[in-house]
Amino acid sequence: MTQREEFQRTIGYGEAAIGQLRRNEIPAYPRNYELWYSYCAGFNHALNKAVNDILRARGTITPEEINAIYTRFLAPSRLGDRIEEVGGKISEEINAVVAAMEQTISSNARYRASLSASTTELSGATDAERIRAIVQALIVATEDTESTNRLLETQLADSRKQIADLQESLDAIRFESLTDELTTLANRKHFDQSIERAVEQARDSDDGFSLLLTDIDHFKTFNDTYGHQTGDQVLRLVGLATKQNVKSHDVACRYGGEEFAIVLPRTSLDAARTVADHIRVAVMSKELVKRSTGENLGYITISIGVSTYRRDDTVQSLIERADAALYLAKRTGRNRVCTERDLEVSDRRAPAGRVA
Ligand code: GH3
Ligand code: MG
Ligand code: MG
Repeated sequence: MTQREEFQRTIGYGEAAIGQLRRNEIPAYPRNYELWYSYCAGFNHALNKAVNDILRARGTITPEEINAIYTRFLAPSRLGDRIEEVGGKISEEINAVVAAMEQTISSNARYRASLSASTTELSGATDAERIRAIVQALIVATEDTESTNRLLETQLADSRKQIADLQESLDAIRFESLTDELTTLANRKHFDQSIERAVEQARDSDDGFSLLLTDIDHFKTFNDTYGHQTGDQVLRLVGLATKQNVKSHDVACRYGGEEFAIVLPRTSLDAARTVADHIRVAVMSKELVKRSTGENLGYITISIGVSTYRRDDTVQSLIERADAALYLAKRTGRNRVCTERDLEVSDRRAPAGRVA
């Protein structure tokens, strides 16, 4: 999608959101605006259903209802809020452990003091009654210390479990922050990190790697004909076909709107071309059917450009060659895979200065 198209589409949602705020006399606070923007963009079906149910029943919606819907459908996906929540729980656990340890330390200090006092008293005591009383006091002090130590043990075991749960929450948050919501592939941030790492590793070792860049063919026409939401279903489908044709150590990402990038560690150019061709064939073989109406939408195809790491490559030079190969695939008919080697052949056929 061009920047201009993105601008027009999002401004449209924004204006519709402001219209809804006005109609329902809801203050235009960022949270309220976000909720109506999501509603107008229509990508959160559960949220739209909750709002529509209320509007259908009463024709208007109150700020309290807006607040409840926000808390239910948007707040859980706000990573910032969730990170804060996990952070808060971690400090609570740390405080509880510190308090239990302080209690144990002072109880142990008291015990030590009473031990040394009893030693002094015992050395001077001759009377059996007195000795029994000192020993009795020692037993009480020992029991007291034992019970404080047991409390600390319980607190530590409890905290260990809580912290393991919090660790899992943090892992989930981290995973989500690197995942594209629509396709569940890795997102652009994850791609940037992965390719950076792949280049560094390739520089330090003999292991090469390859890169695929994928772009859907004539997707603009598809969107214009069937609508953006159906277009989004196609993006999911291309994402799925990609996922099903790569291995777990490969990193398949949504690179931009309808573009995908796949980093293939320890993979030669020829092997990468084969993977690309599997993805291409998987996509073109899937007959598209509109979920809501059962309408048959035909087939969609993709073009793929492939580059492979060369000594002295940078992330940018590697992406540029994959992008040039993708462009060649588009120019030479689409529904194709072209590699950087094809670029050399095409350059020989069309030397600089001539238009291919
Ligand atoms: P080409 O074969 O040359 O790639 O033609 P194209 O129409 O696919 O051209 P281009 O790749 O420039 O088109 C991008 C289009 O992809 C524009 C927009 O309609 C669509 N698009 C981009 N991002 C999204 C998205 O997130 N969802 C949907 N549904 N469509 C998107
Ligand atoms: Mg494109
Ligand atoms: Mg395209």
